Amino acid sequence: MSSVLYQKVVKSFGALNVLRSLDLAVPDHKFLALLGPSGCGKTTALRILAGLDMPSAGKVFIGERDVTRLQPRDRDIAMVFQSYALYPQMTVAENIGYPLWIRGTPDAGRKAKIGEVAAILEIGHLLDRRPRQLSGGQRQRVALARAIVRDPAAFLMDEPLSNLDARLRLTMRGEIKRLCQRLSATTIYVTHDQVEALTMADFVAVMHGGELQQMAPPIEIYDRPANRFVATFVGNPP
Ligand code: ADP
Repeated sequence: MSSVLYQKVVKSFGALNVLRSLDLAVPDHKFLALLGPSGCGKTTALRILAGLDMPSAGKVFIGERDVTRLQPRDRDIAMVFQSYALYPQMTVAENIGYPLWIRGTPDAGRKAKIGEVAAILEIGHLLDRRPRQLSGGQRQRVALARAIVRDPAAFLMDEPLSNLDARLRLTMRGEIKRLCQRLSATTIYVTHDQVEALTMADFVAVMHGGELQQMAPPIEIYDRPANRFVATFVGNPP
């Protein structure tokens, strides 16, 4: 079963065709990296799944559900952006618990769940701090904790590591990969970084000019690229 499905998704902004008919099926519980150069349509594809943009044509499914017309909050997804967008006036615990609070989860249940995800991300000792009192890596972990606190069906990340320095980026790659292996969510991770995609993902979908070039496990993308673009982009040119 695929738990995330794009069916002939087209997106145009005026005369600009950003997605040209995207068909993409991500198997249940798997980690897919959406890889391609800047401007190829990765973020647009993610935003359509999240409900932040409407497709010009086509459908998106999460699990068995056609979510194309649903509001973002009804889609059972969580999203992490480049800028973590933490609430500066709230503590770490309040930030993490916010998605539960707005859904009316009772205090006890919320507290237990905050403790659970904070432990997974090893930020249990930071719960009373405010975002400005945290390092970049700690903020990133809080954003990840807030995203997974509701056990979403799909976990979407858009270049989440691009604001971190090289050393921290390397550490967080491993952390995010391990985190996603623990979740029951299907993960879609947008990046223009070949190494990130090839080392973190179960499947890599390479895009170019609004079209999917190839979707396959990393080793296959590298060893058997579907075309010259993929070969050159992943650093194994013919
Ligand atoms: P990527 O994530 O691969 O860098 P994007 O999906 O962000 O690519 O953008 C793909 C193309 O769509 C770019 O040319 C971008 O300028 C254009 N685009 C994205 N969003 C909008 C918008 N809201 N209005 C007009 N053009 C847009």
